[in-house]
Amino acid sequence: MNLLPDLRGLTPVGMAELCVSLGGTPHQARAVSRAVFRDGVESLSELPVAARLRALLAGRCRISTLGIDTRLKSDDGTEKFLYRLQDGETVEGVLIPERARRTLCVSTQVGCRSACRFCVTGMSGFVRSLSAAEMAGQVIAAQKVAGCRVTNIVLMGCGEPLDNFDAVSRFACIAVDPLAFGIPPGRITLSTSGITPEIARMPRELDVRLAVSLNAADDETRSRIMPINRKYPLAKLMQALRAYGETGRRVLIEYVLLAGVNDSASDAEKLAALLQELNCMVNLLLFNPQTDLPYRRPDELSARRFQRVLLDAGFVSVVRDSRGIDIAAACGQLRAATA
Ligand code: SF4
Repeated sequence: MNLLPDLRGLTPVGMAELCVSLGGTPHQARAVSRAVFRDGVESLSELPVAARLRALLAGRCRISTLGIDTRLKSDDGTEKFLYRLQDGETVEGVLIPERARRTLCVSTQVGCRSACRFCVTGMSGFVRSLSAAEMAGQVIAAQKVAGCRVTNIVLMGCGEPLDNFDAVSRFACIAVDPLAFGIPPGRITLSTSGITPEIARMPRELDVRLAVSLNAADDETRSRIMPINRKYPLAKLMQALRAYGETGRRVLIEYVLLAGVNDSASDAEKLAALLQELNCMVNLLLFNPQTDLPYRRPDELSARRFQRVLLDAGFVSVVRDSRGIDIAAACGQLRAATA
């Protein structure tokens, strides 16, 4: 295994320090950043700097590559990619075009420890966490193959991002830097199953938008469909979210409706009571059926009834469209390895 630092995992600030320490200029460092992140060069020999600096860099670092094994396009324009990592593991990602936006759903782990019962990634077990370079590699590969710039990022692919805090935080620094992807923090959303100690770290160390996959308003139901709730029960989670909200940031609550499990009017009332006084909005998603999972999709009418309870209680709540269902690219349908 090549243990030299990977340029795709260095922030542009780190890259500048490295180049200057080797006798390069800040201008050359900026050219290296742009070549690595914007142009997606895959070899040090392609770096647009003087041969001497290139040779010095070659002795001290490397550039990882990440290929796309398969690319599926949905009728609605959504694309799903199967990325192959350098050790042969695979993760999936989704590119969602929507008017001027190009949102990329990025994976942060191969598999996932949270093991949510309605998610195919969770049911495939945990293999390993991804590095910041591998997350940046997904953006580079998707931009290259789709021929467009990514404008928004959602950390909602395979894995629990807060179970890989340091690498995700470094990736966020790369994503927002104008010399790398230049995506403002307000256009990056991290979705968690509810790792409360790391939520507390976010305002200081990882300032992107926070989404919480809540999916139940009582501990019994939530622990049944999200085992992580046994470690971080609702009382702890809500305490962390209220503290987060007190910093002036709004939380996005995601709630996947599972027919007969969490979609009744009384579930909606419990949710409204739980979220009282939290600065939040609620996204409702209809479960996308999977052959290997024992849950059903509720009908539109019960979703609307659920939403009505929330609206009447004064919440902003939206029933979200599922994109890419026909290619299994919708929420909860990504898996770690299919090859
Ligand atoms: S929903 Fe997210 S946190 Fe839960 S198992 Fe799937 S990938 Fe992990």
